[in-house]
Amino acid sequence: MDGKHVDWDKAQIHLLTHAFHYGTAVFEGIRCYKTDRGPAVFRLQDHMRRLHNSAHIMGMEVPYSQEVLEQAVVDTIRLNEVDECYIRPIVYLGYGKLGLNPVGCDINVGIAVFRWGSYLGEDGVKNGVRTKVSSFSRGNVNAILDSAKTSGNYVNSVLAKREAVLDGYDEAIMLSQEGFIAEATGENLFIARGKKISTAPGALVLEGYTRDTVMTMARDEGYQVREEIFTRDQLYVADEAWLTGTAAEVTPIREVDRRAIGTGKPGPMTQKFQKMYQEVVRGKSEKYSRWLTYLS
Ligand SMILES: *Cc1c(COP(=O)(O)O)cnc(C)c1O
Repeated sequence: MDGKHVDWDKAQIHLLTHAFHYGTAVFEGIRCYKTDRGPAVFRLQDHMRRLHNSAHIMGMEVPYSQEVLEQAVVDTIRLNEVDECYIRPIVYLGYGKLGLNPVGCDINVGIAVFRWGSYLGEDGVKNGVRTKVSSFSRGNVNAILDSAKTSGNYVNSVLAKREAVLDGYDEAIMLSQEGFIAEATGENLFIARGKKISTAPGALVLEGYTRDTVMTMARDEGYQVREEIFTRDQLYVADEAWLTGTAAEVTPIREVDRRAIGTGKPGPMTQKFQKMYQEVVRGKSEKYSRWLTYLS
């Protein structure tokens, strides 16, 4: 926290921290994987650039450079002696001023590392998740500024996630203001029809690095990948659909609104990208080794 290593139990902030009241924080989710050459962080530079970009969108000046924060992530993992972990860097408006005007507020930075298994469950990864289109839609593009990973934006996702889980589903699918498929609560969404793969355009969603990873791999494999608007009924009749995110990795969607997607089981493309993703993040793919930062 702010340049110092702090024990887990002492990693506390004040009740009147600005970000706690108004959601004025930006964060990242990154994963470190065990490989044959020791632990490696996946797409560390990209995530740290996005953290700075999110802060820039929010008008917050991060008190540390991208490189310093990258090194801090590496140091924190080493210190904790873990070989696999989830990494949560957060930049937040701190304690001292409680008015809405953020000018002059302290800007604090913390990085937590901890173990986090499959986000949508082992069964979800293996057999696919059951989803519903949320009754909550994504916000107006000019109100929410969705391409920043800002804490306050996640109230929308929490509302949708809670509704979906209480209704017996694993995940919610969010529509844009216009009613097109955007993404899930914290994951991007893909559909495949024949050899064509579609995902919502960057302007409608947070442009995830897992999304980018799958798009890159799919194009390299000769698939036609398009960022395009598509509808709820086009999702219903897709051959395959899957979610991507650092936490969820590549997770098949087996059902939307009580309609099976394809055969109702993870399809061959989904399984192919799941397998490729695992090989890439675990350092088993020479072709994409540029995305890994090894600790040693
Ligand atoms: C973080 C996030 C994603 C996934 O981004 P990754 O870089 O792949 O982890 C997708 N959608 C939302 C809303 C997110 O917050």
